Amino acid sequence: MSAKLVSVVVPCYNEEEVIAATLKELAGFMKQNPRYDFEVVLVDDGSKDRTLEMLRAAARKDARLKVVSFARNFGHQFAVTAGIDAAAGDAVVLIDADLQDPPEVVAEMLAKWEEGYDVVYGVRRSREGESAFKLATARAFYRVLNGLSEVPIPLDVGDFRLMARPVVEVLAAMPERHRFIRGMVAWAGFRQYALPYDRKRRVAGVSKYPLLKMIRFAKDGILSFSSRPLQVATSLGSMASFVALLGIVYALVLRIFTSTWVEGWTALMIAVLFMGGVQLLCLGIIGEYIGRIYEQGKGRPLYVVRERIGFDAGKEKPRRKVRKT
Ligand code: UDP
Ligand code: MG
Repeated sequence: MSAKLVSVVVPCYNEEEVIAATLKELAGFMKQNPRYDFEVVLVDDGSKDRTLEMLRAAARKDARLKVVSFARNFGHQFAVTAGIDAAAGDAVVLIDADLQDPPEVVAEMLAKWEEGYDVVYGVRRSREGESAFKLATARAFYRVLNGLSEVPIPLDVGDFRLMARPVVEVLAAMPERHRFIRGMVAWAGFRQYALPYDRKRRVAGVSKYPLLKMIRFAKDGILSFSSRPLQVATSLGSMASFVALLGIVYALVLRIFTSTWVEGWTALMIAVLFMGGVQLLCLGIIGEYIGRIYEQGKGRPLYVVRERIGFDAGKEKPRRKVRKT
């Protein structure tokens, strides 16, 4: 029986400072696990530095390395998606390019997979070298998300994980544009194992997740896994209507039974502003969902590949199909 093939998917965006170290670590890791055949699918997410060049050079020297290069920067979740789509392994491991997720932990993931688990995800027991702000916001985000989501999404879990082929197939069949992969895997179910690990600091370079990208990602997570915000809009609307009703009764009583009814400008302003605010907020929430329906309705491909290196010609997997809606 031939050895099982394990695909390691690495999204890379402007990682020229760490990629050499990462490839070296991965090579060491593969050497220590001779039981398996490996392929490393490196996805260059439209890097503007020398990352692609370095990946190309590395792939020339090592046939296990494969490179998918995007036509522009599509974002981390799309890079991971492309890697998963291109991976041929019996299991697929997702790992960041910056060595924050230590390859040693992958050996433990492989052991759990052998025990029969379909998904082994890393739970961050500690996070080294990250700002108090990032830690606090991440912590709060995972708790809010879990409170809102219709499927439980594990806390403090990133994309660092191993997935067996059946799970990978489920992911490949999910056409959604707003991808929150850790949630999608939770949604899929199967036998999942939570493996605690210590998240390291970045070996070099800076985080490619500035605050705005983090907020967008958090929004995708919440809006893709919950329609609760729409219900919040309804509750806010009903609360505001109730307060408005009290105000109307009050105004009428003043008008009919007293002679001081011209007064009340302040109350009027407050009511107008409050109602205006609530209405805009609710419109915004609805708009967020409609925008997503619109994006999905266009049915564009999730990413555009400019170059594929190291894949066997003729043996390529069929491209991801875009569902017509
Ligand atoms: N990344 C990517 N495209 C992007 C941003 C990030 O492929 O637009 C990759 C990046 O190269 C890294 C991983 O996603 O391998 C995680 O990014 P980063 O380490 O910057 O995020 P953090 O660990 O700070 O959350
Ligand atoms: Mg990182």
